[in-house]
Amino acid sequence: MQHRIVVLGAGYTGASAAGRLARRLRREDVAITLVNAEPDFVERVRMHQLAAGQDLTPRPLGEMFAGTGVELKAAKVTGVDADRRTVAVHGADGTEELAYDTLVYALGSGWKDQGVPGAAEHAHEIAGRAGALRARERLAGLEAGRPVLVVGGGLTGLEAATELAEARPDLEVALAAHGGLGDWLSPKGARHLRKVVDRLGITVHEHTTVTAVEADRVTTADGTSLPAAVTVWTTGFAVHPIAGATTLETGETGQIVVDGTMRSVSHPDVYAIGDAALAMGAGGKPLRMSCASGIPTAWQAADAIAARLTGGKLPDMPLRYFNQCISLGRKEGLIQFVTADDRAVGAAMTGRFAAVYKELVCKGAAWGVANPTMGIPTRRRRVAPRPAAAAPAVRTPA
Ligand SMILES: Cc1cc2nc3c(=O)[nH]c(=O)nc-3n(C[C@H](O)[C@H](O)[C@H](O)COP(=O)(O)OP(=O)(O)OC[C@H]3O[C@@H](n4cnc5c(N)ncnc54)[C@H](O)[C@@H]3O)c2cc1C
Repeated sequence: MQHRIVVLGAGYTGASAAGRLARRLRREDVAITLVNAEPDFVERVRMHQLAAGQDLTPRPLGEMFAGTGVELKAAKVTGVDADRRTVAVHGADGTEELAYDTLVYALGSGWKDQGVPGAAEHAHEIAGRAGALRARERLAGLEAGRPVLVVGGGLTGLEAATELAEARPDLEVALAAHGGLGDWLSPKGARHLRKVVDRLGITVHEHTTVTAVEADRVTTADGTSLPAAVTVWTTGFAVHPIAGATTLETGETGQIVVDGTMRSVSHPDVYAIGDAALAMGAGGKPLRMSCASGIPTAWQAADAIAARLTGGKLPDMPLRYFNQCISLGRKEGLIQFVTADDRAVGAAMTGRFAAVYKELVCKGAAWGVANPTMGIPTRRRRVAPRPAAAAPAVRTPA
């Protein structure tokens, strides 16, 4: 009987894991099903570009997985029963239940309004394609001189504000940051960021907490009103509530708690990867929601599943960071080198070269999804037969 592996989510991590498993295991021995709500692979790291009006390369999952043996299912996951080992999905064929022997949970994350009044109604999010397309339409309809406020001074906020200011120099783009502008960066990185932000004419409101959002303005903690014909909300990501509604052990964030092989600590036949996983990185710090750490978790999970099924050696690749790659529009970038646990070191790459580097990283991430063993030839291994269920004890009559 084939071992049924169901992978939920075909983003950077789920698609990588499904493809890698298909290249590691003999086709006769496994049935790999990849479930995704959308028919395309979405390059989430480019959602600020989409919002700013750029067109992205279409990447149909059907083409990416043609000939791999992975069965694609275009459907929305509505629930997981980790005790019965089933997943409920809703697609063109209605609602159905998929049974699994091994589950890989990779549903990613969406935006987080942090309960700020008015944010859900009035702010635009760019954490996924639907939100980015809505923001794009709204921004395209804005006349020159209108104010746009990006809320959030993290990596996504910086990328969004600079991208918009570069694409639409006729708009008044501002950024509201909780702390100082790029205050986690090295002095070189922070200097460069400020130079680019100034050059693009972005107004920065530092040490500013937005407490309410209306259709044409936001209010800050000190009562200031900032004009915003469009508010773009980038204050962090939150996972979908599906895992939290199961008996799987999850953290406060709703992410599935996993061990070093990305295996659920409560349910050994479940693995979680990418944004959906609460995995520890260097120094015992939880990995942040990012492609940079998410893709290695996909490789780790796929290799661990393959090893456990074939009797091979478990992978022990350290999950660490090397750099933060930040686009600052299409012509500028900032590559901040970091320690294994993601703290900035002195070295940073800036300018046009950094922009090209970041573009190559984005292209490489998409290429890696379609080539999940990074072009290295692999041997498909046999799945070891499962030990027969222990025979029931035979009672002998007394
Ligand atoms: C604008 C922006 C810029 C970013 N830039 C960077 C960057 O420069 N570097 C970096 O490292 N990270 C960056 N990130 C973060 C990065 O995109 C995420 O951390 C990464 O995509 C997580 O990968 P994932 O596979 O866990 O989830 P995702 O890529 O989100 O994939 C999840 C998949 O699951 C599907 N899905 C979700 N719910 C359901 C459901 N109920 N049923 C069926 N399918 C479902 C989705 O359609 C999607 O295909 C950025 C994010 C954004 C929004």
